[in-house]
Amino acid sequence: MKSKTSSTWTVAQSEELYGFKRWGAGHFGVDSSGFVNIEPCSDGRSIRIMDVIDEAVSMGLKAPVVIRFQDLLRHRVVQLNELFRKAIKEEGYKGDYRGVFPIKVNQLREVVDEIMAAGKDYNYGLEAGSKPELMIVLALHENNNRLIICNGYKDHDYIRLALLGRKLGKRIILVVEQLSEIDDIIRISAETGVKPMIGFRVKLQTRGEGKWAMSTGDNAKFGLNTAEILFASEKLKAAKLSQSLRLLHFHIGSQVPNIITVKNAVIEASRFYCQLSKMGFPMGYLDVGGGLGVDYDGSRTNFESSMNYSIEEYARDVVHNIKEICREAGVPVPDIVSESGRAVVAPHSLLVFEVFERINKRESLGKQHQPKEKHKVVTDLEVLLKNKQKQGRLERYHNAVQKKEEAISLFNLGYLDLGNRAAAEQLFWRICEQLAKESRDTGYQPEELRELHQLLADQYVCNFSVFQSLLDHWALGQLFPITPLHRLNEKPTVNAVLVDITCDSDGEISRFVDLQDTKDYLNLHPLNGKPYYLGVFLTGAYQDIMGDLHNLFGRVNEVHVFLESDEPNGFYIEEALAGSRIADVIEGVQYQQEELCRRMKAQIDAATRKDMVKPREGVRLLELYESQMLNKTYLNINQSGPSKRKSTA
Ligand SMILES: *Cc1c(COP(=O)(O)O)cnc(C)c1O
Repeated sequence: MKSKTSSTWTVAQSEELYGFKRWGAGHFGVDSSGFVNIEPCSDGRSIRIMDVIDEAVSMGLKAPVVIRFQDLLRHRVVQLNELFRKAIKEEGYKGDYRGVFPIKVNQLREVVDEIMAAGKDYNYGLEAGSKPELMIVLALHENNNRLIICNGYKDHDYIRLALLGRKLGKRIILVVEQLSEIDDIIRISAETGVKPMIGFRVKLQTRGEGKWAMSTGDNAKFGLNTAEILFASEKLKAAKLSQSLRLLHFHIGSQVPNIITVKNAVIEASRFYCQLSKMGFPMGYLDVGGGLGVDYDGSRTNFESSMNYSIEEYARDVVHNIKEICREAGVPVPDIVSESGRAVVAPHSLLVFEVFERINKRESLGKQHQPKEKHKVVTDLEVLLKNKQKQGRLERYHNAVQKKEEAISLFNLGYLDLGNRAAAEQLFWRICEQLAKESRDTGYQPEELRELHQLLADQYVCNFSVFQSLLDHWALGQLFPITPLHRLNEKPTVNAVLVDITCDSDGEISRFVDLQDTKDYLNLHPLNGKPYYLGVFLTGAYQDIMGDLHNLFGRVNEVHVFLESDEPNGFYIEEALAGSRIADVIEGVQYQQEELCRRMKAQIDAATRKDMVKPREGVRLLELYESQMLNKTYLNINQSGPSKRKSTA
């Protein structure tokens, strides 16, 4: 790699470094002024993300903020449906595609509404996995050509709700996940006189790869094994409900990285489908579940955060394999249902937060400390630093680690004073820095030396909570692309890991996407006293809904953006949702705002009586307390100022 200096750094280099073209599916890029742009429809109309942030700030919605690009959401729905149509046409397939959106992936009203509107011409339906979800789905669903698929564990009320939908003429299919449900469905159907539409979820033997591989196989939580399928179909026959069995369903788990898994699962499920069809059940639908991946790291591999196939290939494989198996078996092909959630919603939103502090563990040690009387361990480290013997890098590293440990032991035993310990620590870090510098840009790195980069990385403190906004990163180590949203015409000279503002050492991001494997740090710009914004991309699936209130950091602000050529910056914000206020989150854990304020007032009054505070001051203190109730839960950065002072390296 050629050496790069700041003056010759180009936006193209940033684009390459952060991989926009690799993971962005054609929607993300950097403009000539170094700003990240998004092209929601990949049609040349683009929006500078910093413009959206500026506008949101002017509306009082500071970062952290989630930005939704509604046009991109629409684009994905159309794309998925069109690609299935294309595959059906090319394969000469005699059935239709009837996708459904599984709302557990993002139940937000605006998201579901947009998907429904975008899917109108495709009869794109909805999937529910619980009673509350079904309540939403039943009410939002219109046009009885769209399917409703009911998954998840079901009690009697769930089944009654689904039958209510049947009564209204909806194509609502109850998918039997476990044997006991079949008896309930039969009984409640008899009670209510409503004929259900029923599907079986089959427990396939095909095993996936990736984080959700446990969704199939004998130990899967859901689905019927072969014997149970036979048993359930006999029960249906006995209850004279044979005509109700319409669908076969499987779900091999989310984010399937390898297309081979999809092929195998589709083949196995198609065999089940054909057998049931030959047993005389009407069938008609084969539901291939979710699992269509998102290439979070852009590597196009079967790595868990990636996928080695495109949506187009996925659609073609599903259609082709079902067609072939049905042809062999002499069974008419089914309409194809898929339940892709992640792939539909992940790209449309991003989380934006601000870095407000840089922690450099070596900087705080200051200049080389000179103890009055140097201990031998310190002079040994000095010799290592000078490296007159020209030792190899790994050997120097091991020696430095050993000397540092020796220094700590000596300190603990009382043989080393503070000055010598400080000097030893400083020397150790200087040796590490030296080793890291020498290793830049060369090929193979021994593991210990590679880890040096993380050891030496600075911490950038960011105003957000991993637990609220990026739960899958914390819980599953899922990776998301993260980049600065501006200054991409400057060389990023700082290696940093990101830490959040929760009081939890797990609240950090220290693994990042990289083309080869993963990276332990992110290349970022030195803080310069002005706001510095980072974007976490592809966060539209699952993250919105699974966040928790660790440290009572609540929902972040949110803006919904639409393309609009008549507007100066090519977009407008249609809806802005203010994030949680402090009063909201504390009421969620059973404290009443009024009561807390009353208690504070009583304490301030008592302090005033004892003359600990002056009356006028007391009034101000109470005002401060009360006004905070209405503030957001995150830091109000532009008012508190450590970042503005402590800026550069
Ligand atoms: C979670 C889930 C989905 C969605 O999966 P994605 O991988 O997000 O597409 C689909 N179907 C079922 C049954 C699910 O549980």
